[in-house]
Amino acid sequence: MERKEKFQCPNCGTKLPFMFVVKIKNNHEFDCPSCGASLVPEKTKSFTWGYIIGLLAFLVPFNFMLYFEDNFLLALMVSTMCGLTAIFLVSVYVYSNTRLTKSI
Ligand SMILES: [Zn+2]
Repeated sequence: MERKEKFQCPNCGTKLPFMFVVKIKNNHEFDCPSCGASLVPEKTKSFTWGYIIGLLAFLVPFNFMLYFEDNFLLALMVSTMCGLTAIFLVSVYVYSNTRLTKSI
């Protein structure tokens, strides 16, 4: 029984780049950059959630800051930081929790 690493190509064993998390979607195939095998994520935590959570993490502080500070630029900067941090955390979560299998 082979041991499967997280986020690794099951065909050639290449660890996929971190940026590939954005390709993780339900039933979505993509090619291994190293050997070209078609890969599908197993037990998918869709990265679409990353965008939704990122958007919320942007909009909530943005409205909050605008309401209390009345400073558009500051609100934009702070909420962008919040949104990016949230997307990054979701990416790390997806990256460390997704196993890949070869599609048939
Ligand atoms: Zn491969």
